[in-house]
Amino acid sequence: MLVMLAAGESFVTTAYLGLGSNLGDREKNLATARKLLEATPGIRVTQASSVYITAPWGKTDQDDFLNQVLAIETELAAGELLEAVLNIEKRMGRVRQERWGPRLIDIDIILFGRETINTGNLTVPHPYLKERAFVLIPLLEIAPTAVLPGGESVRAILENLTKNTETGCVKKVTVLKLTN
Ligand code: AMP
Repeated sequence: MLVMLAAGESFVTTAYLGLGSNLGDREKNLATARKLLEATPGIRVTQASSVYITAPWGKTDQDDFLNQVLAIETELAAGELLEAVLNIEKRMGRVRQERWGPRLIDIDIILFGRETINTGNLTVPHPYLKERAFVLIPLLEIAPTAVLPGGESVRAILENLTKNTETGCVKKVTVLKLTN
């Protein structure tokens, strides 16, 4: 499909980012990540979910996480957005050690418009989205009608997940409001 853009016009994509932290001042880490996202050219944070305290997933012998989902509008391509979030993680001092281990900040691209992306370093929708109540619950809070690229509703995915697993580990702790 060829689309003509007028001079100065660019595509804006709505995307959802999953943030997590379980090291240091976890609430401050989420707030700092959001500020750095807002300061990134081509990214506008439009919504923030509540912050949820969640038991660790994948590797369970570590502190609880704080998790939050942000909605953004972005003019960046998906690869550029990944580069931006990896830079923010780096700038905040995240050191990659073990898989699913403790982390100062983790920023995942959950959804990028209605796109399905499978490049060497980026998979969208996020590969573990369907297994992570700590992402699905905050995502539904800010995007109750969200659907995956194939049309599957996020609500149905969560309902299916909660049929089979324990989600009592996800507990809402506080609501952070955007200042604007
Ligand atoms: P982790 O920090 O453990 O979440 O892994 C980060 C790595 O996962 C990055 O270097 C990305 O290349 C890769 N990755 C693949 N898909 C995604 C995604 N949807 N969001 C963020 N990182 C992703």
